[in-house]
Amino acid sequence: MKKEVVINRWIEATKELLEINGEFSGETLEGIMEKVTKEKMAEPKKIDHIGIAVKSIDETLPFYVESLKLELKGIEEVATQKVRVAFLSIGEAKIELLEPISDDSPIAQFIEKKGEGIHHVALAVDNIKERLNELKENGVRLIHESPVPGAANALVAFLHPKAAQGVLYEFCEKKE
Ligand code: ZN
Repeated sequence: MKKEVVINRWIEATKELLEINGEFSGETLEGIMEKVTKEKMAEPKKIDHIGIAVKSIDETLPFYVESLKLELKGIEEVATQKVRVAFLSIGEAKIELLEPISDDSPIAQFIEKKGEGIHHVALAVDNIKERLNELKENGVRLIHESPVPGAANALVAFLHPKAAQGVLYEFCEKKE
């Protein structure tokens, strides 16, 4: 969200409070900012990527690049998830092919249980920490209660699939 939008909302919120209270009393600046931040948290920005579990990136890539004509942006190892990731761009979003690099990788376990296929949907968000805190307060099950380092220098956190009818959602906040 642009700074001007946040400032305008802050001004609107302040005006409302002034109207309600008749004067500026009781409500702190932090209180007003918290309201603005909560409003700012309401809407994720876009689908950042769709993660697809594969046994072998090398064997899978030709289909994505030659048949689907997607552009390969790069390949990176993500130590926290014990995976090698191939990034393919599609508009503002990406498809990420996730190949396990060890048997205890969450992706290895996923493939063993369910086979290759769609693993998770990642939403680009702001305020990842506040968002996780809010979900936790509301009793939503989380895999990560705090963000961990993800691919492409982002902070990420997974919600529990039981919270979303079996869909694994990831929050993804890009560091500026
Ligand atoms: Zn992901």
